[in-house]
Amino acid sequence: MPTFHPDLAALPVPRYTSYPTAAQFHAGIGATEQARALAAVPEGAPVSLYLHIPFCRQICWYCGCNTGVAASDRLRRYEKALLHEIATVAGLLKGRLVAINFGGGSPNALAAPVLARILAALRHDFDIAADAEIAMELDPRAIRPGDAAALAAAGVCRVSMGVQTFAPHVQALINRIQPFETIAAAAAEFRAAGINAINFDLMYGLPGQSVIDLSETIAQAISLKPDRVAVFGYAHMPSAISRQRMISDLDLPGPAARFAMSTTAHRLFTAAGYDAIGFDHFALPHDSMAVAARDQRLIRNFQGYATEAGTALIGLGATAISQFPGLIVQNEKHLGQWETAANAGHLTGTRGVGVNADDTQRSQVIERLLCDGLVEVPEPLADALPRLAPHAARGLVRLHGRQVAITPDGWPYARLIASAFDAHLKAPERHARAV
Ligand code: SF4
Repeated sequence: MPTFHPDLAALPVPRYTSYPTAAQFHAGIGATEQARALAAVPEGAPVSLYLHIPFCRQICWYCGCNTGVAASDRLRRYEKALLHEIATVAGLLKGRLVAINFGGGSPNALAAPVLARILAALRHDFDIAADAEIAMELDPRAIRPGDAAALAAAGVCRVSMGVQTFAPHVQALINRIQPFETIAAAAAEFRAAGINAINFDLMYGLPGQSVIDLSETIAQAISLKPDRVAVFGYAHMPSAISRQRMISDLDLPGPAARFAMSTTAHRLFTAAGYDAIGFDHFALPHDSMAVAARDQRLIRNFQGYATEAGTALIGLGATAISQFPGLIVQNEKHLGQWETAANAGHLTGTRGVGVNADDTQRSQVIERLLCDGLVEVPEPLADALPRLAPHAARGLVRLHGRQVAITPDGWPYARLIASAFDAHLKAPERHARAV
């Protein structure tokens, strides 16, 4: 059982879904740099695609995503603009799509026939590898009869359902009521339709949540045999995310309880035969993420842990982020402005950050630490190693020359350990707790 270090667990550190992180984005990067980066992707090079659907049926109080409730007219306008953006980006890109992920928000805020039309447009406009995985995040409460079959027919082969918690009193405090039967029925429908790769997202640190609540949720989740599970710690930042003001600080579990939940999740999932992946994922040994982790091919990108590195990750939709060698660029956040630009056939990037050689080296060290727990630090970054000495003294890392290995005790603090190589970390108050 890892040791609770209250001074470390409370420290705010980035999630490192990119390096540099979004905190370094600025308005000096935009569509011009985006166009240059898209055109520079070599012909046939593997590319991952992410489509952001920023709408939901109902808003959960804990949610930090860029999403909102929308009327049907707004949804129709979004689909139209997204189809324009697909055509614009496809006209510039010579790479081949090897993975397609729909996220949000809740992509199934759009009806299944709309999602099928978007997939048909992708197939028409892009070069897509025959074995490309098409994955979609779904709100189980918004799944309609026939959706599973329609999505399977459109080529979706993995679905990720937001579960978060099965405890009714916690669901009430986060404004997300969804009985166990809803999730069980959805999983059964997808499997019956031939979509056998099923992910669940769970959360710890939610208001009113205890270790027992989390343990019961995990037992119920395991009974449905998801292939892959993410267990995210709730990041309470009401000053930055106004909907989180609906959650009272008084209802939140303290740091020691959060730590106990994080380690309990690890213990229960690994005891049930799941492989621990990085610091917050679990996967059955046959799942592609478990295979990638064993082969040290796991990566981190804006979706968290992923299996398809590719030459670039291209984000479509308002606020979606693209990652290229040397550049990270985010699409316009304001829905109306994004639609105007997309409908006019323009690229929609408006913020981002250049990634220089030093950033790239640091990014690789941070990524390997968070994915493999092991890295050989290149000589130019060796001056960061003394920062790890206090962690080594607590048994959280082992240092051999320039090799850094996270110990089993150190995994809960993995992001904090990786932050030793972050040269930009100056405003830690903007980030979530280390655990
Ligand atoms: S359904 Fe998902 S994306 Fe939508 S508000 Fe809830 S957590 Fe956020």
